[in-house]
Amino acid sequence: MGIAAHRWVMTAPNAPLVREAFDATPGPGEVAVAVAGCGVCHTDLGYYYDGVRTNQPLPLALGHEVSGRVAAAGAGAESWLGKAVIVPAVLPCGECDLCKRGFSTICRKQKMPGNDIQGGFASHIVVPGRGLCAVDEARLARAGLTLADVSIVADALTTPYQAVRRAGIAPGSLAVVVGAGGVGGYCVQIAHAFGARVVAIDVDDAKLAAVGQHGAALTLNSRNLDGKAIKSAVVEFAKANGLRTTEWFIFECSGTAAGQLTAYGLLVHGATLSVVGFTMDKVEVRLSNLMAFDARAIGNWGCPPEYYPAALDLVLDGKVAIKPFVEPHPLDEINRVFAAVHHREIKKRAVLVPA
Ligand SMILES: [Zn+2]
Ligand SMILES: [Zn+2]
Repeated sequence: MGIAAHRWVMTAPNAPLVREAFDATPGPGEVAVAVAGCGVCHTDLGYYYDGVRTNQPLPLALGHEVSGRVAAAGAGAESWLGKAVIVPAVLPCGECDLCKRGFSTICRKQKMPGNDIQGGFASHIVVPGRGLCAVDEARLARAGLTLADVSIVADALTTPYQAVRRAGIAPGSLAVVVGAGGVGGYCVQIAHAFGARVVAIDVDDAKLAAVGQHGAALTLNSRNLDGKAIKSAVVEFAKANGLRTTEWFIFECSGTAAGQLTAYGLLVHGATLSVVGFTMDKVEVRLSNLMAFDARAIGNWGCPPEYYPAALDLVLDGKVAIKPFVEPHPLDEINRVFAAVHHREIKKRAVLVPA
């Protein structure tokens, strides 16, 4: 009996990931998802290369950008059986006071695959049978996408979706996205889909060229410009396009100290600074600029499961392109793929696909 499954576990930072067999039989209220694809996120590399601690002790399979098909369901979760789903990167408990008051992103009992529970670099993942996002496979096929492609909706797309939504972008807003990579590229497209004119800033010309074709009206390479020159360029862009020089929406998606300083330096009166990327590094800023500019800085952790269908709709309706930004690789080559992503040899979002 049981469901024969395997996963690639991290035993220690920087040690080769190891394939191990396990039984994916779900418990009551749980489902086993046969993984179609699992995206490799900067956060996974942080655990693996930088020694960021996972909540569950090692050995642990990383991976929190999962799509797949429900292969088995425990008691009470039978309605999911056979469905194509996206597993949210953060699964709130749905029952605590925070969840009931609509603050599910800060639920203290939330489970993040590849951090709190075994993750998606595996043939199967066992997760709670609640809050999953069903994928309409007919629409998926019409959009020219595979189930593995939309794994990145689980985090790379929904995290900026939540950030854009929370920031309050409206048609006519000016948005500046710092870091046009895995998450930032989608932030550009989503802000654009919400009606903003978008400026993208990065140090990589290839990434800037890509977002220039998908949602960014102006791209700036911060390698060639100092903070003042960047801010002047955005002011010029605003004036030339009839946009406000106040109330900018700034999204820090690079997860680097340099990017955070660039983002902070773009504060204007009434600005909203959303911190979307993560780094262990520290920066020195004059916090009182928030006061002087009557600005606000907000964090963003995950995305409530109830927003996933609307975020997926942007993809299925063609408002957000993902195909040019994902690159499938065999799961069995995970050690090579991690290294290649780490060394920036793979520029697109790598999605690991089980054989
Ligand atoms: Zn992630
Ligand atoms: Zn909860």
